[in-house]
Amino acid sequence: MRALLPDTAPQDGESWSSIFEDIERIIMPGVVHWQSPHMHAYFPALTSWPSLLGDMLADGINCLGFTWASSPACTELEMNVLDWLAAMLGLPDHFLHHHPDSQGGGVLQSTTSEATLIALLVARKAKIMEMQSTLPKFDHSVLNSRLIAYASDQAHSSVEKAGLITFVKIRFLKTDEDWSLRGETLKQALEEDRRLGLVPFFVCATLGTTAVCAFDCLSELGPICAREELWLHIDAAYAGSAFLCPEFRNFLQGIEYADSFVFNPSKWMMVHFDCTVFWVKDKWKLQETFSVNPVYLRHANSGATTDFMHWQIPLSRRFRSLKLWFVIRSFGVKKLQEHIRHGTKMAKYFETLVRRDSNFEVPAKRHLGLVTFRLKNETIGYTKGTTVFSFVAMRLIQI
Ligand code: PLP
Repeated sequence: MRALLPDTAPQDGESWSSIFEDIERIIMPGVVHWQSPHMHAYFPALTSWPSLLGDMLADGINCLGFTWASSPACTELEMNVLDWLAAMLGLPDHFLHHHPDSQGGGVLQSTTSEATLIALLVARKAKIMEMQSTLPKFDHSVLNSRLIAYASDQAHSSVEKAGLITFVKIRFLKTDEDWSLRGETLKQALEEDRRLGLVPFFVCATLGTTAVCAFDCLSELGPICAREELWLHIDAAYAGSAFLCPEFRNFLQGIEYADSFVFNPSKWMMVHFDCTVFWVKDKWKLQETFSVNPVYLRHANSGATTDFMHWQIPLSRRFRSLKLWFVIRSFGVKKLQEHIRHGTKMAKYFETLVRRDSNFEVPAKRHLGLVTFRLKNETIGYTKGTTVFSFVAMRLIQI
């Protein structure tokens, strides 16, 4: 593109027509068409017209809803829509904003990577505070060096990145033959690390791994996390949308132990990127980690209302809940379920075609819309890390 663009920015404004002509000439040749029906790479990034209109409206309004006062509708719609969505997925009441027994709630973040980092930061802060009560002379950095977190060897690279950023050791544990992290493996690692004087504090379980859409065994991990006082974070970036359908909720057994849960409606739920939902069980711990209180951001209802600037890393935030609200209302729960079921059915169909072809094999059990396959008779056996192909079924549905 360097050769097609001038070296410097124009001094005077240009006509819209000349700018737009350059879209076809300069931009489109370098665009990967993620919305093409032939695109089966990565996980899907599906869209829909209600989502597009929601985002256009949000761009038109362009409010920065960092506090309740900076745009009350931005905060309040988000709280209500995320309560709807938690109920739509069958998540526990402790993730709801509006529930008498809940101390938690949901917030929209930009990406799952950011949400996982946030979960790690909150869990780390809580554990360091707890350690300081018995070890008051030790600096945070010294206590930080004793912490250890866990995820499976199939966890997304964003978990590793969260460890890099926070200087927290992360141990990636071996998965079983179905690529699932099991309770016994975690238990052994905890024993080994406690013997070394380390302080376990955080587990990231994945529901729907990036490589083969495997599921860590929450029903085993959850009780261990509760007993050992570990923060249990769940990364369901892709598979979270599937929990719209009750028949896929067997993977959620043990969800009652979760301290936080993240998924991307921007993958399979037809909401434009960016849209990541992050639910937390204890909003006070979250706010304690991210609260600053400069005079220019205070307002008459500070403390009495939810100020999402205390739930995230940046200050400013977009009106993202509009597109989510438009999608949920336009399709309704039933059409969204139909959409997920159709994607899964297409993947199943594709799997039968692959299995019928003697050139290919399916090296990992298919879950939901992701089929992993590879050429048979490769000289190198299949090991973790071997390149495989995957096909992700997707489709846009008509309302
Ligand atoms: N976690 C899992 C399991 C993923 O599959 C992905 C991406 O596909 C991510 C995290 C990263 O998501 P994001 O791009 O929202 O950070």
